[in-house]
Amino acid sequence: MNTKSAWTLKAQEQPLIIAGPCSAETEEQVLATAHQLKDAGVDIFRAGSWKPRTRPGSFEGVGQQGLAWLQRVQQETGLRVATEVANTLHVEQCLQHGIDVLWVGARTTANPFAVQEIADALKGTGIPVLVKNPVNPDINLWLGAIERLEKAGIKQVGAIHRGISPLGKSVYRNNPEWSMPMTLKELRPDLLLINDPSHIAGNRQLLAGIAETALALRMDGLMIETHITPETAWSDADQQITPQTLQELLAKLSGRPLTTDTKAGADLNDMRHSIDYIDEQLIDLLSYRMQVAAEIGHYKAQHNLTVFQENRWAQLLEKHTSLALSKNLNEEFVTQLFDRIHQESVRRQQRVLPLIPARA
Ligand code: PEP
Ligand code: MN
Repeated sequence: MNTKSAWTLKAQEQPLIIAGPCSAETEEQVLATAHQLKDAGVDIFRAGSWKPRTRPGSFEGVGQQGLAWLQRVQQETGLRVATEVANTLHVEQCLQHGIDVLWVGARTTANPFAVQEIADALKGTGIPVLVKNPVNPDINLWLGAIERLEKAGIKQVGAIHRGISPLGKSVYRNNPEWSMPMTLKELRPDLLLINDPSHIAGNRQLLAGIAETALALRMDGLMIETHITPETAWSDADQQITPQTLQELLAKLSGRPLTTDTKAGADLNDMRHSIDYIDEQLIDLLSYRMQVAAEIGHYKAQHNLTVFQENRWAQLLEKHTSLALSKNLNEEFVTQLFDRIHQESVRRQQRVLPLIPARA
């Protein structure tokens, strides 16, 4: 893939590897990273010049000057270069600087007005564009952004799966929701589909597992944030790896299919993730319940009320059991569960005011 004449953004035998820093910070950092990546099996060098930061006050990119550094990368290493665009001005400046590939970021994909503006600015150009999935789990918004670019005459449009913002706590920065890229693959098998484990993981530890899953699901490539000194990166420091680590990671990836049915593999992964998420929610709720119980304990102590109130407990249990039955839960299971929860609540309240022994 290193000869410019053969330039098509199609799935290759080998996964397409896009690597480079989250942000172009300085000319030295960009060039040093690119030189180290040149022989690491990388096809396209990435660096963000305009950074869509969630909150103001963080580093928002070096802007147009980053494009000149990317041109030096092209000249000195022969690598193709890619950067993120979010509006007409970005597109125009990238075209002027001969950037090889553009990508639309997750926050921009979520905004059809912005995507249309980019599509209009790209009319008549042959530049390949990769579209990240939106931050919310809306496959149509993703597909819609791809279609807007295609309608503008862009022949080489690809997709990047970067996960979605979690609702609650998650081990991931962005939950992978593997069924989303797999559905896109079913709907549009012709599209190049790349995985971005960096923005899914949000840290270096989870990176390799996500990359492995993506290849097992037969995605066409990976975009991995790489920096000469990741710990001092101006953005996304926790998730970037050195070119050396990238090389080791790529060497270890087997690309072995997850199961013979890749859709089933994706679904299984998502279901496991949902279970983890639900368990975390259960723990949060239990902890909250115990705090409230302790507060009630204080109130009872102040007002000289008994900790265990038989009538109230009988009513609660009856209410919970019938609700649980209506939701297909086993009566004995629910009764035992609530009995344990109740015992623990009483134990907490007794710490505040030990009046009556806990219910056995
Ligand atoms: C990025 O690739 O640096 C980036 C900002 O990604 P995303 O749009 O996926 O958050
Ligand atoms: Mn980033």
